Amino acid sequence: MATYIVLLGPPGVGKGTQASRLSQQTGLAHISSGDLFRENLKNQTELGKLAQTYMSKGNLVPDDVTIAMIKDRLGRADCAAGAILDGFPRTPAQADALETMLRDFNGQVNAVPFISAPQEVLVERLGDRWTCRASGHIFNEKSNPPKELGVCDFDGSELYQRDDDKAETVKRRIEVYMEQTTPLITHYRDHGKLIEINGLQSIEQVTHSLMDALKNRS
Ligand code: AMP
Repeated sequence: MATYIVLLGPPGVGKGTQASRLSQQTGLAHISSGDLFRENLKNQTELGKLAQTYMSKGNLVPDDVTIAMIKDRLGRADCAAGAILDGFPRTPAQADALETMLRDFNGQVNAVPFISAPQEVLVERLGDRWTCRASGHIFNEKSNPPKELGVCDFDGSELYQRDDDKAETVKRRIEVYMEQTTPLITHYRDHGKLIEINGLQSIEQVTHSLMDALKNRS
């Protein structure tokens, strides 16, 4: 049976960084809904252009569009053993849709690590975040700087600051998270799947806590 891990937590808490590290350690595919939208935008697809109208304001892309994109992605060969989901689901409707689609893929959500940190830390981290153009690798100019300023350590591509990491948009993204995504914490806790992780630890410590907690779950 395939293994699916959902990483839950507010914007800026480190879901992307941790999903990528977990993917390396477990061999499961890293599926980031935000990266998929940004890739579509880079390729100027209709989906990318549509998503951008929501992303630029810090709002969520509509559920039907997002669910269809994720279903397509999870159906590809590299997800046969399962996946680490980063940024999806973000609403109760998406969580329901995920359950239904995973049944088709002979799986279920095995564990939901919920990484948390206080709001002021999130705002600061997003302001210091640099993202790689080619593959979305993430750096932080204070806590996790690249070896060379403005250049990705992994693929040498340019690092840029995301438009939606600007203070105004960050405020809205956190609001949207509070309104639309936090109900999932209760949902997965009630289903016995939630694992609480302290996002104030170092990157290495968070990965260690995640791997430790996941050992007993999959
Ligand atoms: P992220 O890279 O996860 O911070 O996502 C960036 C933006 O992409 C979000 O602010 C949303 O506009 C959009 N997005 C990403 N994932 C989802 C999702 N599951 N549902 C709706 N919109 C999403």
